[in-house]
Amino acid sequence: MDKQKNLSTTYDPAQVEDKWYSHWKEHGYFQAEANQDKEPFTIMMPPPNVTGQLHIGHALDHTFQDILIRWKRMQGYEALWLPGTDHASIATEVKVVNKMREEEGLSKDDISREEFLERAWDWTEEYGDTITNQLQQLGVSCDWDRERFTMDEGCNQAVKEAFVQLYEEGLIYRGDYIVNWCPDCLTTLSDIEVEHEEQPGKLYHIKYQIKNSNQYIVVATTRPETLLGDTAIAVNPADERYQNLLGEKVIIPIVEREIEVVADEYVDSEFGTGLVKVTPAHDPNDFEIGERHDLEVIKVIDDQARMTAAAGKYEGLDRYQCRKDLIADLKEANLLEKIEDHEHSVGQCYRCDTTVEPLVSKQWYVAMEELAKPAIEAVRNGATNFVPERFDKIYFNWMENIRDWCISRQLWWGHRIPAWYCQDCEQVIVSREEPEICSACDSSNLEQDEDVLDTWFSSGLWPFSTLDWPEDNQDLDYFYPTDVLVTGRDIIFFWVARMIFMALKFTDKTPFEDVYIHGLVRDAQGRKMSKSLGNGIDPLEVIEEVGCDTLRMTLITGNTPGNDIRYRPEKVEASRNFANKLWNASRFVLMNLDDFDLNELDNNKLDYTLADQWILSRLNKKIKRVTELLEEYQFGQVSQELYDFVWREFCDWYIELIKPRLYQEDDSLERQTAQYVIWFVLENILRLLHPIMPFITEEIWQYLPGEGESIMLAQWPVVDKSIINEQVESEMQVIMEVIRSIRNIRNEMQVNPGKEITAILTSDVTEKLEIIQMGQDYIADLAKVSELEVTEDLETRPEQASTAITEKIEIILPLAGMVDLDKEIVRLEEEIEEMEFEIKRAEGKLNNDGFVNNAPEHLVEEERQKKEEYTAKKKQLEERLASLKT
Ligand SMILES: [Zn+2]
Ligand SMILES: [Zn+2]
Repeated sequence: MDKQKNLSTTYDPAQVEDKWYSHWKEHGYFQAEANQDKEPFTIMMPPPNVTGQLHIGHALDHTFQDILIRWKRMQGYEALWLPGTDHASIATEVKVVNKMREEEGLSKDDISREEFLERAWDWTEEYGDTITNQLQQLGVSCDWDRERFTMDEGCNQAVKEAFVQLYEEGLIYRGDYIVNWCPDCLTTLSDIEVEHEEQPGKLYHIKYQIKNSNQYIVVATTRPETLLGDTAIAVNPADERYQNLLGEKVIIPIVEREIEVVADEYVDSEFGTGLVKVTPAHDPNDFEIGERHDLEVIKVIDDQARMTAAAGKYEGLDRYQCRKDLIADLKEANLLEKIEDHEHSVGQCYRCDTTVEPLVSKQWYVAMEELAKPAIEAVRNGATNFVPERFDKIYFNWMENIRDWCISRQLWWGHRIPAWYCQDCEQVIVSREEPEICSACDSSNLEQDEDVLDTWFSSGLWPFSTLDWPEDNQDLDYFYPTDVLVTGRDIIFFWVARMIFMALKFTDKTPFEDVYIHGLVRDAQGRKMSKSLGNGIDPLEVIEEVGCDTLRMTLITGNTPGNDIRYRPEKVEASRNFANKLWNASRFVLMNLDDFDLNELDNNKLDYTLADQWILSRLNKKIKRVTELLEEYQFGQVSQELYDFVWREFCDWYIELIKPRLYQEDDSLERQTAQYVIWFVLENILRLLHPIMPFITEEIWQYLPGEGESIMLAQWPVVDKSIINEQVESEMQVIMEVIRSIRNIRNEMQVNPGKEITAILTSDVTEKLEIIQMGQDYIADLAKVSELEVTEDLETRPEQASTAITEKIEIILPLAGMVDLDKEIVRLEEEIEEMEFEIKRAEGKLNNDGFVNNAPEHLVEEERQKKEEYTAKKKQLEERLASLKT
């Protein structure tokens, strides 16, 4: 360690941050072990995508977690923050596919699954460290020895166990179902991975001939190409217009296939003609109608959004080309009644924006009804709490309307579904281990399901798979369930909800007590940060420029739970200034502690002044307040409270108040007491600030006298209520108000800052005068008052004086000796003249009808306001001038 006695003259984060991070890590301060003498406090890090890059959202999310974990660690908890990364099936597979195409000119069709996985693992190893290295620059104090990956061996065991258990209980099933399919990513998407957007489109009114008649019915659709797969026409059973059609057959135009007319409650009689074409293979609602009426399912669009053989002459066309050709054919056959403009909602892939194609296919599902119930109950009864509470509505709304969860994905990168199909009989074998023979026919001709599981299936197990569930073990017993999950509101359904029902199913416990939801970081104008707008902020660049502590402080300043924050340059500036203020104040303190020896100090002998008692009382209140605010996750207020305390109370007031005592002889009791208090307060400030600004606090703390290896291991300050003293605080309040008022007058009068002045303080409240007597040294020092008269009865008022009243005390500052009267009179007269000129100018404009009638309203208003302002200012100056002339 650096043995010099004082801090460097300016704070340079680059000199400090890497040094301390490696020191903490090497000394094992981030590690947590099951320890029966301590209470555990656990956070599982939401795993960022393994191939991702650190963005400002991560910085925010991880700052909150690090604040909580450092605070709890200091409070004496065995604090575990377990880090890890997510394999992110779709995102990673897309990247590997692109790389393969660019570098090797290969597509997935050209290589085997094994060859692809080899490349994907190489990719993961090559880029997987990037995000974790970047995270470290944020100062995160997570236990890197326990780092996990959602596709590591342990997580894979957990996934298989969960799948097999759910399957054996009938909660996982395989079936034909309509899914959201991305024809570009070539995989299914869950409902929440589909983004709906209103788009202008067309409504096509198409004529279907009624069989054995020359009559037609008209059906309206936005997707005419799907008529090739129609297997019924549906009407609402209550729709009287079409009662005679029920049971009839109609003929699909162009393809001339016969279909039935059925009655179904789903049909909205108000929409279009009240007749709906039913295409079970390509629409989720139609699929359900089809189930109810046992309709045939005809797939006319394939995985790549091309028309299938069932589409007849349109086979092989892209779905949109088919639409064009079909419309042309319908027009020619005179079967198109009309085309209307029609705005409608279109589902798009959240990754690639391709329009999603609903398709029927064989997929694996989790039956949700039974799993959702206890998960809803757990939040209702408070076993898990959303912070802020309003987010439980989003949760309930989703959980109460939940549909079965399609968990198979047509990808290679991910947890392969542990199901094998016997090629010699119909048997499906779901197993933790690869089976050798078919359990029904003993055949060894088995093939594993080609698909992988939805990424969220494995991240849903994260809170306990990371502690080696399903294996019974000490860590799982000790650290689980976790205490809080910190996450953004955008993944409440994707992830939070799934962790809750999975945890309840497999561990009988909710996975966390609190879910702290934070908002987004927006740009200064309140816009979302995005690549296309180019308004993103790179947290690593900010760290390089102003340091990690400043970034952390900026991110939490003004933050309230659940709400977005704006990233403003002024905020960064303010946070940086704060760090510098703390640094400079600490330098001053250290400069005055060279002869200070904690060991030789006798606490009982110290002689506390009013200022000492005041700052100690204020400190204890802050300790109480900050601790309470942290318990409520009010990070923004924590930073505000600490900012104000350090800057205003400690630096602006306390340090100034005790300077004279610090400058006294070395061994005087006054000086020793001042040294002790300033050391004590600063040391507590550093501990209170440490969770927010870990680096600067550690650097300063190492220079301060006292025991201990690292501020990380120091105890969180504990409030001592006996030191809170309301009387002392209100006395200091009076004294500070008087000082502030005198300083204001000096400013207004432009008195030379170094000039000593005379002041008379009078009040008819005796108590106030007593307080002033107590504080007269402070007033003398801080307001530069060389002669202070404190009196109840003022016999004669000085003739020329400036006055103010505060706290029921009248402050009278005789001007003689304070300002050069003649000069001041000239200055004031000049200023008054200037005001008069400005007032005339404004009046001239306002009296000009041309201006008033033709100029924009806001300019006219501006002139009116100027006139008012100048007039008021002039009046003030005249009053001051009058007081000087008496
Ligand atoms: Zn896609
Ligand atoms: Zn078999």
